[in-house]
Amino acid sequence: MRMPALFVGHGSPMNAIEENVFTKGWVRIAEKLPRPKVILSISAHWYTDGTRVSNDPAPRTIYDMYGFPKELYEIVYDAPGSPEVAEAVLTQLSHHSHPCVVDNSWGLDHGTWSVLHRMYPDRRIPVLQLSIDGSANAKTHFDIGRSLSELRDRGVMILGSGNVVHNLRRVQMQRADGFDWAYEFDGYIRDHMVKREAEAVLDHSQAGDSAKLAFPTPEHYDPLLYVLGASREEDKLTVFNEACVMGSVSMTSYAFHNVEIK
Ligand code: ZN
Repeated sequence: MRMPALFVGHGSPMNAIEENVFTKGWVRIAEKLPRPKVILSISAHWYTDGTRVSNDPAPRTIYDMYGFPKELYEIVYDAPGSPEVAEAVLTQLSHHSHPCVVDNSWGLDHGTWSVLHRMYPDRRIPVLQLSIDGSANAKTHFDIGRSLSELRDRGVMILGSGNVVHNLRRVQMQRADGFDWAYEFDGYIRDHMVKREAEAVLDHSQAGDSAKLAFPTPEHYDPLLYVLGASREEDKLTVFNEACVMGSVSMTSYAFHNVEIK
């Protein structure tokens, strides 16, 4: 069975330990989707020069966030890695002329484990990360996702973890909803995702002024492009956790799967 390609808006690392509408959405989607054999995660928090993949059989948990409660640093997401799928990633990307190297200097960062700790708390599904090439353009991110799409037929869920709107310079921690421009940009992306208008998602500047505020740096947006690239024409798209919080963060998430999730 073909596994889904999933983009999750991860938001605050506190989502790893807080019960809220978003974490409930993560639990629910995991229950509704088929259980993958392996998860290939593309997290906003592994942003490198060139593309890297980890083939560590036991990736370590990375605490790449600062100033949070002790409880968060006590989470150990000790899922196994997958050297086999790392090899398959290298092969696929090489077939499509995307350079990629093995790099085990990283592990599972909070973009990955804050979400998986809720989705798959048993930690039995092997997980590996692919980095985001910070020097690549939107089309290249999309193309890399497309090159990896075939892995979905081999039991691999492709997970992108980021946020469509992510502007920490404007964030208001106590604010429950979003700024008007955040809704505007989030809605622009949702509409084009639903219509599968990839060009409009790749060239997000078409959204106008809201695009200038949506994210000062693209690392949280880029994972969406990999997931969109990994989608297939015959997939149904489920939009879930559609919301903006803290003024300038969107939690909106997307699941490409053979059926729509109700
Ligand atoms: Zn993040």
